[in-house]
Amino acid sequence: MDKYYVTTPIYYINDIPHVGHAYTTVSADILTRYYKQKLGNDNVLFLTGTDEHGTKVAAAAKEEGKEPKEYADSIVPKFEDAWKILNIDYDHFFRTTDIRHEKIVQEVLQKIYDKGLIEEGIYEGLYCVGCEKFLTESDLVNGKCPLHPNKKPIHQKEKNYFFKLSKYEGELIKDFESDNVNILPESRKKEILGKLKEGLKDIAISREEVSWGIPIPWDKKQTIYVWVEALFNYYTATQFLNHKQKFWPADLHLIGKDILWFHTVIWCALLKAADLPLPKTIFAHGFFSINGQKMSKSLGNVISPKELVDKFGADATRYLLESQFPFGEDGDFSIEKLIEGYNAYLANGLGNLISRVAKLCETARFVQSSNEKSGHVIVEQESFDKAMEEFRFNDALSIVWEKISKLDKYINEEKPWELLKLPEGSKKLGSIEDVLAHAVSQIQEIGILLKPFMPETSKKIIDQFEKPQIASSSPLFPRIV
Ligand SMILES: [Zn+2]
Repeated sequence: MDKYYVTTPIYYINDIPHVGHAYTTVSADILTRYYKQKLGNDNVLFLTGTDEHGTKVAAAAKEEGKEPKEYADSIVPKFEDAWKILNIDYDHFFRTTDIRHEKIVQEVLQKIYDKGLIEEGIYEGLYCVGCEKFLTESDLVNGKCPLHPNKKPIHQKEKNYFFKLSKYEGELIKDFESDNVNILPESRKKEILGKLKEGLKDIAISREEVSWGIPIPWDKKQTIYVWVEALFNYYTATQFLNHKQKFWPADLHLIGKDILWFHTVIWCALLKAADLPLPKTIFAHGFFSINGQKMSKSLGNVISPKELVDKFGADATRYLLESQFPFGEDGDFSIEKLIEGYNAYLANGLGNLISRVAKLCETARFVQSSNEKSGHVIVEQESFDKAMEEFRFNDALSIVWEKISKLDKYINEEKPWELLKLPEGSKKLGSIEDVLAHAVSQIQEIGILLKPFMPETSKKIIDQFEKPQIASSSPLFPRIV
């Protein structure tokens, strides 16, 4: 692998950033930082952004008495601010209202049209404005969209352009079964293959009477269906950003499980139609519930990234999001559980170890000899890398926390403080130096391993423990009551 390109979904701006968005974005940031260490900064690209077209955005803008673009401009900073406080180091913040994107999407769609893969037709059926999605009979629960039981789907009959999705059924089954496009976790791949084998219908890819969008290039009265246009962001960014062409195809699309169908079947078929290479991996993570309940605006239990960062700080929030349950599965959390985790693993575990060893070094006037690090290999590195590359973030963290407990145990057994209490002259200086040298080198390694997850903490630890004379400092993670 010589380059790595990771994307998050571009978030729809009818919503403000919540912990679900943060989960995807923090995970992408962790992988970005990991691969930047491995491949160099210039060989990694991390894209996130916002999806700004469609009926829902136009309606929300109208409600606030704003033009849609003006409304979008007012929401985008909320996402940018959330990523800033979480220390997200993306390379580009993508907006679908970027005219460079609009131009390339039109070019690609024209190409697909010219190949005879898009045809005019009449769409008649149900449409959920909440999802910006056409619904089939099998999607309905009690005649309503399962995600929007309070909004009746609208009946629509209009002229649309249809993409010949059905043509790609066989090819996509092959691509997914052979892992040419690797859909993860495995259970999600099964789900998609099962649904694919039930057969594919052609899909409408334009809308009439939706003015807030990108016009169909050969019929300006129609706009490109918001989902189709949005998916292309992953590709168009590599074409209009300087020197980023080499990054297509994406190595990883990180998404939530609710948008898997669009990102596997529809996205890959569109790319095939446009003669473009397919993404390598599509990983769908699970959902959070909060205290056993689905997170929703109406229940008032939505947690914002700011709330978490205010309480725990950026690094601890990143740690807590990734350590709760395996990436890819659903999990439940609550502020109480997060506080428990924070106190047990950060305040007591990591933080306590750091202060303890720093204090011992200070009291013993330990002087670190330099130049011992060349050619040094961290014993856990290989299993840590494997966990990272297989998206087992909680396992990667467990490896680091095992190292923390092991060092704690070592210090408890060696009791360097007792060595310190021996009367002057009888002190076994060799032995206390050895104990502290080992402890310090282990802490440096912990600092290095934590870098992708907790960049600020990692830097603090490394800075503190690389000095010849190590001084104690204020606690990294003060206890929260
Ligand atoms: Zn819906």
